This record gives sequence, structure tokens and C-alpha cells, in this order.
Amino acid sequence: MQYKPVENVFAPPAPHMVGDGFKVHNFFPSGARMGARRMSPFFLMDYGAKTVIPPSESPRGVGAHPHRGFETVTIAFHGRVAHHDSAGNSGIIGEGEVQWMTAGSGILHKEYHEKEFSLSGGPMQMVQLWVNLPAKYKMSKPGYQGLTRDMMGKVELPDGMGHVNVIAGEYRGIKGPAHTFTPVSLLTAELKAGAEAEFSFPANFNTGLLVLEGKVTANGAAVPQDRFALFGNEGEGVAVQAEADSKILLLSGEPIDEPIASYGPFVMNTQKEIMQAVEDYQAGKFGRLE
Ligand code: MN
Repeated sequence: MQYKPVENVFAPPAPHMVGDGFKVHNFFPSGARMGARRMSPFFLMDYGAKTVIPPSESPRGVGAHPHRGFETVTIAFHGRVAHHDSAGNSGIIGEGEVQWMTAGSGILHKEYHEKEFSLSGGPMQMVQLWVNLPAKYKMSKPGYQGLTRDMMGKVELPDGMGHVNVIAGEYRGIKGPAHTFTPVSLLTAELKAGAEAEFSFPANFNTGLLVLEGKVTANGAAVPQDRFALFGNEGEGVAVQAEADSKILLLSGEPIDEPIASYGPFVMNTQKEIMQAVEDYQAGKFGRLE
């Protein structure tokens, strides 16, 4: 197997707050300056590095806001997040769980620390990805997939050296539960020190690896905790060696070869569609949410 070259290993960009609840490092599109299409179909990755949330009577987070033209995928590694949206969906995700929300034609939602978690406080670590939709699906009906731990595809590594969780796509024939509009692989792996795991994604798929805990070597490059490795678009293989007990997120997807016009919470193909989104939002066409 030919291995993908490591194009870059990015340190976490300076953090910013999303609402009053989520301190995130935006690796892309802005933070690592890799361009809006470099990780397509993934348009955005916000990383909330592990932090301890102090107890709070009123749950912190981000109030009602719109999205159109893509999907938000929130993965909780520590802590619990609650979600409510104008399509009537709601859910709570805990450690190892995922909210996969299709904004499609337009939705309002709010994202908060779950009530009990907020009261007790504790460690929080999460990732939010924005997965773009091809033009023909941008105005799809909004949807919501609450992906719980028991739904995940699970592959044990030999000799008890860890396991791979499949959120989307597949690994060694085991499929993940997420329905996706375009080919996307989203895997997490927990690796004991010394573990080795091999992955394969098509050469043209944009592929990256985030280290949440520990330290790994990926295709020969050292990737410490909180760093994001971007792979070049040659070869298929990703070989990971855990240099310590480690937790990683692997994302890979077929690029959407279409122009991107984005503004705040809207990701469309043209400026005209962005103006339409703003107009529709202001006219109340995204529904209602308290
Ligand atoms: Mn949102």
C-alpha cells in the first residue's frame, strides 16, 4: 500500500468563544489558512481542547442561530451537550456520542451544556465539523441523527491494543451509523501505547487526523496532542503508531468539486444564494425556536 504523505502538522490556532460555552480552536477554514476547499467536504473544524468547565446554575452555550447548506457534526469526547432545533429535534450527547444535524434548507438551533453536566461542571472536550452538501442537496429537508455509543461500529484491535469506532463510512467491513450525502469516513480510535493501526482512504479523498489524547506517529510524522495532521492527496494508507495511550479522530471524504460562498452560518455556492439565505432568515423562514 502506498501511504499518504503528511503535508502539514498544525498546532491549534488561537482560540475563540462560540457563545459563552464553547472555547474552540478553528483549524479550518480560517485557523490554518488552508483554504475553504482544502478539506472538502469538511468546510470547518472547531476543536474544543480539553478544559474543565466550572459548575453553573444556568447552562452555558450558544443561543438560537441559523444554518443553511450543510451539516453540523458535533462529537463529544468529554462532557455533555444538549441540542434543540426549529425542526422539533432535540437530544443530549455524552462521551463518545455524536449529533449529526442536517441544516439543509435552513434551521435554527441552540447548543448548550447539558443541564446536569452544567450543574456539576467537569472536563469538556469536543469537535464540531461542518460537512458541506453538494448543490443538489443544499436545500434538503432539515434532519437530525443522534448517534449514541451503542450505535457506533466497533472494531477491536488485536491483542487488546485498543479499538476503532466507526461513526461514518467503514473500517474493516464494519459500517458506521451516520447517513451521509456524499462519501465520508469519520472514525475515532483509542490506542494503547505501542499499538499500531492501519487505515485506508482513496487517494483523492481529503484526509486529516486530530490527536485528542497522547501522541502518535502518523505516516512517519510526529503528531502530539491537540495537533491536526493534513495528508497529501497521494496514496491510500494511513499508518498510526501510538507513542503513548492515545485517542485520535480520523476524517476523510470525497471532495465536493463546486464553488463555495460562505457567510457566517451559511455555506452556499454563490453570493446570490448567501443573500437569499440572509433574506429568508430575516423573513422568519427558518422556523421558530424559543
Ligand atoms: Mn450551530
